[in-house]
Amino acid sequence: MGCSSSKRVDAAAIADVYRPAPASFTVFDINSIQEPWIVVDSTAHQQKPTHVPAKILEKLNSLEAAEEPAPPHSWDEVSKALEDLKPTFQPKPVTPKLGPIQQSPPPAAQESLVVPKKPNLGNSKSFHTLEELDAKLSPKPTVLRKTESTRSELKKSDSKSELRSPLVDGAGEPAKSVKENIFIVRDRLEREKEGKLANIEKILAIKRDPLSEYPQKCPPGGADTVVIYTTSLQGVRRTYEDCNRVRAILELHRVAYDERDVSFHGGFLSELKELLAAEEEVGPRVPRVFIKGRYVGGAEEVAELNDSGRLGRILCRTGVERGVGRLGCQGCGGARFVPCLECGGSCKVAAEGGDKVRCTKCNENGLVHCPTCF
Ligand SMILES: [Zn+2]
Ligand SMILES: [Zn+2]
Repeated sequence: MGCSSSKRVDAAAIADVYRPAPASFTVFDINSIQEPWIVVDSTAHQQKPTHVPAKILEKLNSLEAAEEPAPPHSWDEVSKALEDLKPTFQPKPVTPKLGPIQQSPPPAAQESLVVPKKPNLGNSKSFHTLEELDAKLSPKPTVLRKTESTRSELKKSDSKSELRSPLVDGAGEPAKSVKENIFIVRDRLEREKEGKLANIEKILAIKRDPLSEYPQKCPPGGADTVVIYTTSLQGVRRTYEDCNRVRAILELHRVAYDERDVSFHGGFLSELKELLAAEEEVGPRVPRVFIKGRYVGGAEEVAELNDSGRLGRILCRTGVERGVGRLGCQGCGGARFVPCLECGGSCKVAAEGGDKVRCTKCNENGLVHCPTCF
């Protein structure tokens, strides 16, 4: 192009020529100015090469030199031609943004040369913060609007659409960036870590001592064995069946358990009451199972443990006594009690005067501890 030669003209001279007071140009319709941009472009380019990103310079130069697609003739065309460059340099730090605006407008605005500078600064700042601080998107809109307003009409229409889009994108970003905030992320990771550690410790503790998760409640003399409180009364069918269920499960594992039948001996019921005072408000119910001084639960809990296979592991690890235990006792058959020989189970014995008094040897049921196994 003929004008391309003007590039080589002394830059300073041109700058002088094309730097009139901005006010003098405000009356012009920018679109009506024919091709001054080429001259100005080269001026601006040579004048402040540092402000113009290489990409845009190249683009402009190529546009200028291009024969095939006719070089742009109006500002619309220029901005269109530069449009594809914008997305790439917008996200980049300050300078790229400065460049395009100063570079392309100057031609348009040798006139507005002075004016655009301010907006440009603001603009670049806003993008700068977007880039580097990520989270500070809110101040941006205002800055951008200012920028737009001070721009020439042409620029406005183009830049608005372009600047808005990052804005809209940006609107979504704060939420994201808050989530990705390093402190929040770190905090979350630490919590997860702590949670995992706690879980692992719990699991290890349970592995070391499978009973560790059960409350420590030791029936008298039950620190080293399995104690079950049951009843042989069939008053409440469910209770009776539960007792049988627990017994059956323990026998399946061949555990030498210590059965304490509360219907045989009131002392057992008191024991149980005391043990479970904190656990049960309604008063103790049977069956209740204690393994090595830990309260495991009732029939439901034991059945569940048995079904999951944990009961076997617990019994193995705790090394409870196996065998028939008291069930093999010749004297009581596992009942722990035998009828009182003193009173024959009637709890009454003849006193000296022929009166009948309470037998002192047996319990309220006329039973005494089995002399063989107790
Ligand atoms: Zn016995
Ligand atoms: Zn007696």
